[in-house]
Amino acid sequence: MTDPHAAPMNHAPTSSPLLELRRISKSFGPALDLAARAAQKIGARVAAETVHAVDDVSLTIARGEVVGLVGESGCGKSTLGRVAVGLYAPTAGQRFWHGDGHARPLDDLPADGLRAIRIKMQMVFQDPSASLNPRMRAGTAISEAPLAHGLLRQQDRAAWLAQLLRRVGLDPGLAERYPHQFSGGQRARLGIARALAVQPEFLVCDEAVAALDVSIQAQILNLFMQLRADLGLTYLFISHDLGVVRHISDRVVVMYLGRIVEIAPVEEIFACAHHPYTQALIAELPELPARRRAYHPIRGEPPSPLHPPSGCHFHPRCPYARPECRADRPPLREIAPAHWSACILDG
Ligand code: SF4
Repeated sequence: MTDPHAAPMNHAPTSSPLLELRRISKSFGPALDLAARAAQKIGARVAAETVHAVDDVSLTIARGEVVGLVGESGCGKSTLGRVAVGLYAPTAGQRFWHGDGHARPLDDLPADGLRAIRIKMQMVFQDPSASLNPRMRAGTAISEAPLAHGLLRQQDRAAWLAQLLRRVGLDPGLAERYPHQFSGGQRARLGIARALAVQPEFLVCDEAVAALDVSIQAQILNLFMQLRADLGLTYLFISHDLGVVRHISDRVVVMYLGRIVEIAPVEEIFACAHHPYTQALIAELPELPARRRAYHPIRGEPPSPLHPPSGCHFHPRCPYARPECRADRPPLREIAPAHWSACILDG
């Protein structure tokens, strides 16, 4: 058994790493209003509450791997995804990009070096229309970034655009339409095309199929897998739905209130989840009625990340909690090859 904080690479799969997150924390402090700032200036003590969104998380994602990141709403998975692609700077910890075989510390790179790597990491959002200018035609929105970054010449644009739209399953004739003229499924494909336009190696898909009907979800998941096979992409696939993650992931990472509580290959998570929180998530899957009877369903609401519980954050909801669970944070320990869990019952 190894302490994950002493050896940050220990959650890595065996193939070569692409992105490494080492002891990442991300907190958000509220901006003080005018009155509070004025009170501070005259020496008054103004308490500013801090949201601990991500708390000391280490994770290495291998080239070509699909890592599913699951947990309830507010567990910090979207924040971790944004830190991974550089949309948020971490409060603590380091990120390393291994794209050329060397570990590049992203937070120490000069601006131009960082820009060159940042473009290799793109996000696909739940609602792509939120990131699309409603007054811009789809083709213009997709080709904007590659033209600006010198990845595409204007004279090649039409052929390039047609090829990209076909790749994501859209008719090239739709390039002249505006975002509101697309269906939900088409908009999802549009968002993927926009991310692919700058030739990324790593995609963070944040609830990318959550808003879609089940049949369209399946089509978009198949598209992600086809793109992975064709382009060698690596994914961090964020979802609140373990059932969705099951269909696409090689490995599953379970987060609870800012911390990773379990990591395992996808088949192993479903066959023998160790952490009580993971067991509870699996128990809630409608397609697994037998398991539902075997496990204790999850109870209560997640506590606020403003005031996370002491020790194991899950203890107020855990059916197996003991008094000692309130005292210390259980470390992530390797309980089987490539299977990590953070629970005192694993010992
Ligand atoms: Fe439950 Fe204790 Fe394990 Fe936390 S450490 S999951 S409270 S048994």
